[in-house]
Amino acid sequence: MSFGLGLDAGGTFLKATAATGGGKVLAEASVPTRPERGARAFIAEAAALVKRLESGLGGRAPGLCVAIAGDVDPRAGRIRRSPNLLSFEGFPLRASLSRALGRRVALHNDANMAAWGAYAVELRRRVPDVLALTLGTGVGGGAVLGGRLVVGSTGTAAEFGHMRVVAGGYPCRCGARGCLEAHAGSYGLERTVRDLLAERPRARSRLRGAAFTPKDVSEAAERGDALAREAWRRVGKALGIGVVNLVYAFNPRAVVFCGGLSRAGRLYLGEVENAAGAESFRGPFGSLRLSVARRLDLGAVGAAVYALERDG
Ligand SMILES: [Zn+2]
Repeated sequence: MSFGLGLDAGGTFLKATAATGGGKVLAEASVPTRPERGARAFIAEAAALVKRLESGLGGRAPGLCVAIAGDVDPRAGRIRRSPNLLSFEGFPLRASLSRALGRRVALHNDANMAAWGAYAVELRRRVPDVLALTLGTGVGGGAVLGGRLVVGSTGTAAEFGHMRVVAGGYPCRCGARGCLEAHAGSYGLERTVRDLLAERPRARSRLRGAAFTPKDVSEAAERGDALAREAWRRVGKALGIGVVNLVYAFNPRAVVFCGGLSRAGRLYLGEVENAAGAESFRGPFGSLRLSVARRLDLGAVGAAVYALERDG
């Protein structure tokens, strides 16, 4: 069976995924990333991981796509900036891996690959204009328009997490204020809860006086904790502003929320729908579909499927 390979290089694990063109996962394997050992050791480990996966499958993938969080230059095949993989910045990752494995390699931002997964796997290529928003620690974005991945002039297109959605809002890790990520990423959610606890000193909440994670906030909200529900509503409002702006910019048919935090769809999707529904300019909003991805591994699977693209 023919398959493509996606390599998801995070700060902790390097994960390889073999998937068919339709997105069926055939095999997965991972090893610790260990960036401190240097880029050359990383290439050797990645090549060994790929060969191990392929020997288990009894086949060879024609291509491979590496998905990395951060600012990636897909044309030069280098990482421009990645907080998880600082020591690899500037290293010719794509060319080195291509040499080590004797086949074509693509290198892309992980949220762009999640968008490809949303387009090619989640929506089965039936919707040519798709945007993805990945909700995790940060907020990433990706765009597929007319069935093609949009990378922009420097490979940095679709960094939706750094669109300004609140004037003078919360500080973002990028140095600016009011970015979508600062209000809708996991640290935005935590900040929102802390602000609400301070704003409403008499409000009862299981989150008061406790160390809490985004998962705790979701669980509290699911159990009816009013303050936790309000925090998610505020996240939904920030996402709503972002989505409305994205719709005016790109006129997508579908916006797919993916990533770990996206699972709490019931807690924020209503606010995004309200924001889209409140626009009186109906044309681009009438046919818009908002959804939460059914699977959590869209980035890795998207990369494996993208590796099969001829111009990937
Ligand atoms: Zn930012």
